[in-house]
Amino acid sequence: MTHDHDHHHKSPATLRTRVLESLLVEKGLVSTDTIDAVVRAYEQDIGPLNGARVVARAWTDPAYKKHLLEDGTAAIAELGYTGRGGAEMVVLENTSQVHNVVVCTLCSCYPWPVLGLPPPWYKSYEYRSRVVREPRTVLREFGLELPAKVEVRVWDSNSEVRYMVLPQRPPGTEGLDAEALAALVSRDAMIGVANVQAP
Ligand code: FE
Repeated sequence: MTHDHDHHHKSPATLRTRVLESLLVEKGLVSTDTIDAVVRAYEQDIGPLNGARVVARAWTDPAYKKHLLEDGTAAIAELGYTGRGGAEMVVLENTSQVHNVVVCTLCSCYPWPVLGLPPPWYKSYEYRSRVVREPRTVLREFGLELPAKVEVRVWDSNSEVRYMVLPQRPPGTEGLDAEALAALVSRDAMIGVANVQAP
C-alpha cells in the first residue's frame, strides 16, 4: 500500500491502519503485494461498481436521472450507497457541449460511496495543480481528446461537496440492460478523465 495521501492531518484511523499494516507485514502474515492487490481492487473494480450502477440506472430511467441531477445525495442513497456523513454528492452530466472533470485541489476529497478509494494519480500534486490550469492537455494525456467546441468544466471537491460525473451513454448500446451498461462504466469516466466506450 502506498502512503501518498498528503492530507494536512492524519486521522487516528489512518495512523492505526499504518501501524496495523506494518505489523502484519513485519510478522510475515501478509505481503505488501497482497495489500497492494486489495487496494487496487477497491480503486478500480469493487469501489467504482457502485457508481457504475448509478450511471446505468440514470441512463435507463429518465425519472431517476432527473432526481440524480437535482439531488445526488438522495438519489444515490436510494440505491443504498451512503456513508461518510455530511458530504453532499453532486452529479454532473456530460453532454456533447460540456465535459466535466473532478479534482480536489487541496488534498484528495473523493466520492467514496460511489467510487471507493481514490487512485494514486488523483492524489498527486501534478494532477491537482495541472488539471485546473490546463485541463485539455491533462485529458489528452489520459487519452481523451475533446473537440474544441466542447466546454471543459473543472470541479473542485472538498469535505462538504463531492462530485461525480455522469458520462454520456455511448451510441450503439440501446439494446443493453442496466447490468450490461454498468459493466462499461469505468472509474475514470466518473472522474471525467475518460469517456465510456461502446463494447
Ligand atoms: Fe481532500
